[in-house]
Amino acid sequence: TVSKDLDYIKSKITKHENFPKEGVLFYDIFPALRDSKCLDMIITRLLSHIYDEFGNKVDVICGLDSRGFLFGTVLSLRMGIAFVPIRKKGKLPGKCISLKSTKEYGSDVLEIQSDAILPGQSVILVDDLLATGGTLNSSVQLIQFLNATVLECIVIIELLQLKGRDKVPSSVFSLLSF
Ligand code: AMP
Repeated sequence: TVSKDLDYIKSKITKHENFPKEGVLFYDIFPALRDSKCLDMIITRLLSHIYDEFGNKVDVICGLDSRGFLFGTVLSLRMGIAFVPIRKKGKLPGKCISLKSTKEYGSDVLEIQSDAILPGQSVILVDDLLATGGTLNSSVQLIQFLNATVLECIVIIELLQLKGRDKVPSSVFSLLSF
């Protein structure tokens, strides 16, 4: 059942106090990837949500640097659609657009290749975790600068206390919340 799967996935997420900085409780998704059954559950649940909500309307899965790449590429492969990365500044060649973002434990400049998404395409953004919402807020804006539509942001983990979803200018779906 769905709730059994979610409990299983949750049991594979470990917490680390004061990482990478004093005062941050870090949620590590890598133990979930050591268990291929668990990764399969995560992907199956996300795909079923996406098909229920959007059917075949999605053109692009956009994954956020760097743990969003892990889930984003698998989703795009299974859906037979494009994968596009949003990366930290200086990593992507060619013409890019960039935007500053602040997150729970630091700030980054985020970039996307200008020709990666076409005007009018429908995009789902994927990351591992939603904390303050700064990263997804800037990422949604980058997609909108390219005149594409953000259907939804999807994360594995949402930290409810930080109210990050209030900062994200699109709907947000989280598999697990803490
Ligand atoms: P934010 O912009 O504050 O929502 O932070 C989200 C981004 O930072 C995501 O890419 C996460 O991978 C990472 N992140 C922020 N806080 C945490 C945390 N407590 N545990 C793990 N990753 C985090």
